[in-house]
Amino acid sequence: MQQTLIILKPSTVQRGLVGEVIDRFQKKGLIIAGIKMMQLGDEILREHYAHLVDKPFFPSLLKSMQATPVIVMCLRGVDVVEVVRAMIGATNSRKAAPGTIRGDYGMSGQENIVHASDSPENAEIEVRRFFAPGEIFDYSPVTLSATYAADELK
Ligand code: UDP
Ligand code: MG
Repeated sequence: MQQTLIILKPSTVQRGLVGEVIDRFQKKGLIIAGIKMMQLGDEILREHYAHLVDKPFFPSLLKSMQATPVIVMCLRGVDVVEVVRAMIGATNSRKAAPGTIRGDYGMSGQENIVHASDSPENAEIEVRRFFAPGEIFDYSPVTLSATYAADELK
């Protein structure tokens, strides 16, 4: 089954929204394969946001992502990368559609609640960046057969 890397950003931790955001992913039917709290250092953030290091907002983004520890999660599901990107909405929370996580909980382009991998290839890299192999668990919840039709799980 496909996996994706989620970060509940410091603003989400500070605003007490961790439980609510995780609840939305669980209620959707996504499987938590890994979850932990981490204080992110410069090195991992420069690697994770390598596509943005030259942007003028990068120093502010770095500081924002280090304001408190974050919650990192590996979620599993069929087409989970696309499903989660649709659930979180547009990068700028003010433009994100109501009903999306950013659209419902955020008011900022930077403080936008959550990170989610943008492709299956990047998801594999990002899960390896934030988790050791022993921290990711491969199990089948008993609810799986009520979440998917059998042929969707092949
Ligand atoms: N970001 C920002 N200003 C911008 C664009 C991005 O502060 O103009 C921050 C924002 O927190 C965003 C992160 O940089 O989530 C990564 O940007 P990306 O373009 O990868 O957006 P995402 O994949 O998070 O939607
Ligand atoms: Mg991105």
